[in-house]
Amino acid sequence: MFEAMSKRQGQNGSSDSGLKLSGHPISQRTLKNPISCTGVGLHSGVKVTMALKPAPADHGIVFKRTDIAGNGALIPARWDMVDDTRLCTGVSANGAVVRTIEHLMAALAGSRIDNLLIEISGPEVPVMDGSAHPFIFLIDCAGVVEQQASRQAIRVLRPIKLQDGDRVVSLEPADNFQVDLAIDFASSVIRRQEMQVEVTPGAFRSEVSRARTFGLEQEVAMLRAAGLAKGGSLDNAVVIGADNKILNEEGLRYEDEFVRHKVLDAVGDLYLAGHPILGCFRGRCSGHAMNNLLLRALFSDPTAYRLEPMCETLVVPAAGAELLPARAVAARA
Ligand SMILES: [Zn+2]
Repeated sequence: MFEAMSKRQGQNGSSDSGLKLSGHPISQRTLKNPISCTGVGLHSGVKVTMALKPAPADHGIVFKRTDIAGNGALIPARWDMVDDTRLCTGVSANGAVVRTIEHLMAALAGSRIDNLLIEISGPEVPVMDGSAHPFIFLIDCAGVVEQQASRQAIRVLRPIKLQDGDRVVSLEPADNFQVDLAIDFASSVIRRQEMQVEVTPGAFRSEVSRARTFGLEQEVAMLRAAGLAKGGSLDNAVVIGADNKILNEEGLRYEDEFVRHKVLDAVGDLYLAGHPILGCFRGRCSGHAMNNLLLRALFSDPTAYRLEPMCETLVVPAAGAELLPARAVAARA
């Protein structure tokens, strides 16, 4: 999808089918009704109840620990609140933490939810089935409403790149949100996998949202000794056995489920920018830590980005026919 789109676009930002113009502003969105779920945290193993509640325009995505009293329990889901990137992304404020927020954040990014209060009764988002799909289901059940405020986007103005040995992450200017990710694992069931995708709501839902988190069976004991993966099981993770066989009876949901899950993680981590990003993210053997460092590098340089209202993109056909609303690129980021 990404490659096809790149070929269509000329160097001046116009496409073969015509000139792109900005159209109507896109509205912010929240849920129509509150909805809740119960589950265990992947790493803590703690059972929690989580309620997703509608929030006003310009509120953003904010967690609230209902088991902690006072406003100190409020934790904005934002890059500068991230304090834990050990096998998950966790945010904290005033001593209150919420861990493993990335799959929920990915579902909110993929569903274009701007404003939400997430009430949670413990320290970790429920892992559900290890993917973002159960959260998409919750959002579908609750319904979505448009709000009386325009959606803002963070436009990447110049390339930002970080490298740590084989690990590389970068952001480059683009008119939509693209992810180009590659992983390389020693395990013969993973090896090298790549994915390039323009992250539209439809593409996120069908190509990314059902990909589950994964791990090696031989690492589980080590992780548990470190206080991690206590809630992990074959119900919420793809587990690769010592003989390089997948232990889950049902097998994989996508042939390349592993890289798709890494794309899911990146979409969730990058939504901590506070707004959708108009840019191309590239990751090579990257993870939560580098995703967060990339956002910190972006926001430390005011010349590297700009906050701007998101608009539908209109395409003026090259043949001079009528103006067509494309609802493409920026409208779907
Ligand atoms: Zn993940």
